[in-house]
Amino acid sequence: MEDTLRQFVTEAERIVGFTGAGISTECGIPDFRSPGGIWSKYKPIDFQTFLASPEMRREGLFRYLKIKEHVGEVQPGRGHLALAELARNGRLTHIVTQNIDGLHQASGVSEEQIIELHGNGTYAKCLDCGARHELDWVASELDRNPGAPACMKCSGIVKTATISFGQAMPEAEMIRAEAATLQCDLFMVIGSSLVVQPAAGFPVIAKQNGARLVIINREPTPIDRLADLVIHRDIGDVLEMFLT
Ligand code: NAD
Ligand code: ZN
Repeated sequence: MEDTLRQFVTEAERIVGFTGAGISTECGIPDFRSPGGIWSKYKPIDFQTFLASPEMRREGLFRYLKIKEHVGEVQPGRGHLALAELARNGRLTHIVTQNIDGLHQASGVSEEQIIELHGNGTYAKCLDCGARHELDWVASELDRNPGAPACMKCSGIVKTATISFGQAMPEAEMIRAEAATLQCDLFMVIGSSLVVQPAAGFPVIAKQNGARLVIINREPTPIDRLADLVIHRDIGDVLEMFLT
């Protein structure tokens, strides 16, 4: 299987890496499925509930900061570093990620090559004017005031720069992701259960457009049968062959 993966990568000219929570578990960030997970203790709040009141916004931000505190400082893992290596040698054109942890940027891949479908959780943003706010500021506002923090520039609603359940997908990123998917000749799914839509549609589009499809994930996914190669093993163990 590893030989086939190496051959596919060698033969490809335009690779897209499509990553999910599984690429970051070895960095200490639990995916949604891990038993007794932090995600069930501090369950994320959906978008409508977040908007409903300052109390819910406060609670949503508080839960997010709790998860972040629980996870602590994180560094890119072998999967991130392997993709960064493939980007450096020009084979990998884009990484389309469902992750919000910023670890692809931390591995040295340029911002133009990273497409974040679910936003970025390493900072917050004003929903009204788009101004960026740091999480340390959000934490200190929560400490100092009883309600939810308001944007310093326009008094708008401040939320982590993530896309919550119930929130519209980011338009520009969806367009970029589709273009990258249609241009690639190898589409590699890495650590996604492929159950969250519309993200899970991209590998199907790639395959229908003639690209080879590889899925690396510990568990089976609903589209394994479409793939040219499926590897049900640990991501870091598999991808470290691309580390120099
Ligand atoms: P998911 O939790 O649904 O699926 C992750 C998959 O990765 C699982 O099928 C699991 O078996 C597999 N996996 C975990 N560790 C692995 C390893 N070391 N080797 C091989 N396979 C491994 O995640 P998803 O498909 O990304 O969807 C969940 C949503 O949750 C996403 O939208 C994402 O934004 C969000 N999320 C993000 C993070 C993060 O940013 N790191 C973490 C948790 C959840
Ligand atoms: Zn604002």
